[in-house]
Amino acid sequence: MSNNATTTSTDIFEDAIKRLDDAFRYANIDEEALELLKHPKIIIQVAVPVRMDDGTLRVFDGYRVRHDDTRGPGKGGIRFHPQVNLSEVKALAFWMTCKCAVVGIPYGGAKGGVIVNPKELSRLELERLSRGFIREIADFIGPEKDVPAPDVYTNAMIMGWMMDEYSDIVRQRTPAVITGKPIPLGGSLGRDDATGRGAYYCLKELEIKRGWNPSDIRIAVQGFGNAGQHVARLLHDDGYKVVAVSDSRGGIYSEEGFDIPSLIKIKNESLHLKAVYCHESVCEAVNAESVTNEALLELDVDILIPAALENQITVENADRIKAPVIVEVANGPTTSGADQILKSKNTLIIPDILANAGGVTVSYFEWVQNKAGYYWSVEEVHSKLQTIMSREFNAVYDLMGKHGIDMRTAGYAHALTRIGAAIAAQGTKSYFTEKN
Ligand code: NAD
Repeated sequence: MSNNATTTSTDIFEDAIKRLDDAFRYANIDEEALELLKHPKIIIQVAVPVRMDDGTLRVFDGYRVRHDDTRGPGKGGIRFHPQVNLSEVKALAFWMTCKCAVVGIPYGGAKGGVIVNPKELSRLELERLSRGFIREIADFIGPEKDVPAPDVYTNAMIMGWMMDEYSDIVRQRTPAVITGKPIPLGGSLGRDDATGRGAYYCLKELEIKRGWNPSDIRIAVQGFGNAGQHVARLLHDDGYKVVAVSDSRGGIYSEEGFDIPSLIKIKNESLHLKAVYCHESVCEAVNAESVTNEALLELDVDILIPAALENQITVENADRIKAPVIVEVANGPTTSGADQILKSKNTLIIPDILANAGGVTVSYFEWVQNKAGYYWSVEEVHSKLQTIMSREFNAVYDLMGKHGIDMRTAGYAHALTRIGAAIAAQGTKSYFTEKN
């Protein structure tokens, strides 16, 4: 997924950590701590043998990376995708460390991935692969070590299988080993839309600052999966005009804006947006046109929401991006080269480590509820999420204004200060070399 752009799959981690050097100057962090963050703490590569339905054996390669656990157990999703690679998993784990620190939840960062196209597996094969992967990494995860969650092409049911497998291995029910589980297996209410909702709460804060009238604001959303659908729905409910959405097979555009609940219904029944376009349904009613994923990014809209994969906005297309506000619901959709171009155009980017942190925040709520054995109402989850997202959005926004920097650098600086404080609490060079 990282190899369809100018940044190759081998350097996505290097590209990701470049952001640390920019942010370092504005953060209260020791250089030693910065160096520590450039090296993932644990990297595991596993081979998962799976007996396929036709009797053959296939072996799938997978990874788990714990980037840092100074502030708490590692936290991060498991991705099933044919283009998973180690550099990408390291980058995703690094972003998790920063993300958990941005929103101030007591976790480090981790990530996992298996090289597989899950759409080619039967349900039974998928279950065997999910359980097999957990068997291989079981020694490295645990409620106080490293807590996985869903990511691209993994879902609540898969989290349930994984939790069940881990519980069998350790001989006790351990719901807190994984988040994003089905509700009856210890999942949290409000986890399903948490990522989109977190981005929505960020935009509501920006709406106040910019004095927006929602019905004047036109939005394009790339990626109409879990995260993209929910942010589109919440904004649509508030009167924003979502004029374009896309998935892996292409997108649709409508000048007057889509009825998002109908699009979600049809997309989820048919499994792709093209069906919406091609079958005589919603799009005919709203006069939709076809648009490619590349063209969607370059539409003349007020807010662009990349919510699919990384490396979508690169030095190749950054010049042509017209939206003055980008909300990074996907992880790493903008390369560092593209960042420079967008900065010169004064584009406001709400960075991924803040914009999509709602998901991990409610994952944290799930873990807390699992450990306490006491479950919250959805209203409680929404209210606690809004408190955190609004508070941290404003903290990052203020830091941006204070130093005259872009919001991504401010986000990293905010995260680095928190991580740096945890590292410094154990002593850095200045402490150990100080005369008693
Ligand atoms: P998902 O699998 O539910 O949805 C991904 C969507 O992107 C699908 O609709 C797919 O068709 C579409 N897509 C794939 N390739 C595309 C392409 N080239 N162009 C346009 N669309 C494409 O995944 P998700 O959980 O919604 O995750 C999306 C992004 O959000 C990822 O970057 C993920 O890391 C990030 N994210 C998700 C969560 C979460 O809680 N779900 C949390 C934080 C970050």
